[in-house]
Parts: sequence; C-alpha cells; structure tokens
Amino acid sequence: MKKLPPLFVGHEVYRRAAYGSHHPLAIPRVETATDLCRALGWLGGGEFRLSPRASEEQLHAFHTPRYVRALREAAERGAVDAQVRERHAIGTMENPLFPGVFERAATSVGGSIRAAELALEGRVAFHPAGGTHHGRPDRASGFCYFNDPVFAIRTLLEGGLERVLYADLDAHHGDGVQDAFAQDERVHTVSIHEQGRWPYTGAAHDVGAGRARNLPVPPGFNDSELEWLLEAVLLPLGRRSAPQAVVVTCGADALAGDPLSKMALSNVALWHAVERLCALAPAAVVLGGGGYNPWTLARYWAGLWGRLSGRSVPAQLPEGARALLAPLSCDLIDEEDVRPAWRNTLADAMNRGPVRKEIHELA
Ligand SMILES: [Zn+2]
Repeated sequence: MKKLPPLFVGHEVYRRAAYGSHHPLAIPRVETATDLCRALGWLGGGEFRLSPRASEEQLHAFHTPRYVRALREAAERGAVDAQVRERHAIGTMENPLFPGVFERAATSVGGSIRAAELALEGRVAFHPAGGTHHGRPDRASGFCYFNDPVFAIRTLLEGGLERVLYADLDAHHGDGVQDAFAQDERVHTVSIHEQGRWPYTGAAHDVGAGRARNLPVPPGFNDSELEWLLEAVLLPLGRRSAPQAVVVTCGADALAGDPLSKMALSNVALWHAVERLCALAPAAVVLGGGGYNPWTLARYWAGLWGRLSGRSVPAQLPEGARALLAPLSCDLIDEEDVRPAWRNTLADAMNRGPVRKEIHELA
C-alpha cells in the first residue's frame, strides 16, 4: 500500500483567462476546484506542490520539435499562417490561440511529470490541471495542445516501472494516450466513454495492439452501470495487469449536467471508482480532463481531493465555499437549469438505475 500522504499539484497560471470568450473551456475550472479545497481547509500542512513548466526539451520526448516551436511562435505572435494551422491544428475554433497558451499547456505537462515523480515515492498525486488526453505528437486535438497524461506515464516508466495501467473516465475516448503506448508492452489502457461522441474512436472491438480496452457506454450511463463495469471489467483487468502504478484521467464531462455529453454519473460514484482504481497499485497519478459545467466540475475535483486525502465530505458547504460557486456562470447552461445543490453541496445524490443490456454486453 501507499506509504506517503497524497499531494496536490497546481499552479496560478490556471487563473488567467484562456481559450478566448466563446470556447467551452473559457470557464473557471481548476482554480475554483483549488479554491474550494482551500475554503474547506483541505490544503494545508504542505499538501500543495507547485507545478513546474516543462522545458521544450522535455516536450520533445513526445511532441515533435517542429510542432512545439510552431505553437510557441504562434502564441508569441498571436497568429498562425494557413499552412501551420493546417499542419498542427492550432489557431482554430477548436484549439484557439490565446495569450499564455504555450505557458499554460507546458505547465500542465510539467505538472503531470511532477505528479508522476511524487507518485513514484509511493503515494497518490492529484493534478487536476492534467488530463489533456487528445494531444498528438505533431498537432493539437480536442482542446488539447500537448498530452500531459503521456508524460505522466513516461515518467513512471523512466522511474523503472514495468507495468502501468492508464484508466480514462472522461466522457471522450482517451485516443491520444491509447495510441501513444499502443506498441509499449508495459502499458495497459482502458477508457470508458460515451458512444457515438467525438473523436468517434474507442469502439468495443478496438483493443489497439492488444493491451487497450474500450468501453463505449450509452447516453444516460448511471452510477449502477459504472459500479457494474468497475467490478466486471476494470478491477479484474487491473488485477490481471498487476500495475505498479495507475494513472487516472477524471474528466468532469462524465457527470450528469455536463452540457457537452449525456452521461449521468454522480460525483460520489466517480470518487468511489477513482479510489478503487488507485488502490490497485502503490503509486497513483490522478488527473483532471474535460468538463464544461463549472459547478459540477469544481465539486467533483474538490471532493475527489477530499476523498483521496482522507477528509469527510460535509453535507452542506460552508459559507466561504458557497461564495465560490454562487458567482459562476456558463454560456452553455441556462440559469434555470442550474440546480440549487450545485451551489450548496459538494456530494451529488446518487443516480442509481438499471444496468442495461448494452453494459452487460461490454463485459
Ligand atoms: Zn472529455
């Protein structure tokens, strides 16, 4: 079992405005989750570690020097020419240029490297600004400029580990990570994601080069179904691969209430799943990911840190924490659809339901 207490890896760079004004990620995310933890008294006693920024040389371990240079230069200029946009998918609606984009993306990679180094000491390291699982060696993809989970896994392997399990609980297929390690016998990947959703990969029959497992789930995927897949597929797979470390991507778009996907999980079910996955190995890196509802995202990730660090989640949030959630807003969510519980509580009501035939067929 893990010997050392969990640590939280973060950085102030995530407080800076990002993604322009009309992008689904142009909402408060990591900073609100971090502030919620502080408001609850959950970040004391040296539990916070500052994320370094990955150097360009470090980035070249996965990304091509040409792409890294192109993103840095485009960020400096605030513009790209058509050829660069075409080749590297930057300066697009999906992956826009904005002030600080290079620094922010490189800090996310640095944070995942640091989280993996801390995990190698025998602990859980939580890095909510990580989870950019769609990034490709030579191009941005799906709002991801680099691929920080790849760097977390690489750091674990460079630390001497021979068996790493990557579990992706984001609503979208963890395509960039699966492909990055398809030929590496040391890494198993498993992804639960909503079927029929971008990037349209990760079908049930897709096993990569033999060590990938994909579990595309139907809309409305509920807590009972997650629990069932955990017991029937994820934990047995984890035990068989006997990982020395696990890396978990915890996109908040798998929660009920996310405007870009239709999964229906409670944060309580996800906290439980992440804890069970982390318990498979003596070292664990827990990353963020997608998530486009600022209330449910902040509550999920703050509560996840609370659970990982052994705190008990209060039934009602104290005034200081509610004051962080009250002023949030989101272009993609109508004011009348904002549930009062999103502003006053941390733990969702469980969303149990039938385990449908499609879920049974995945096992
Ligand atoms: Zn996602």
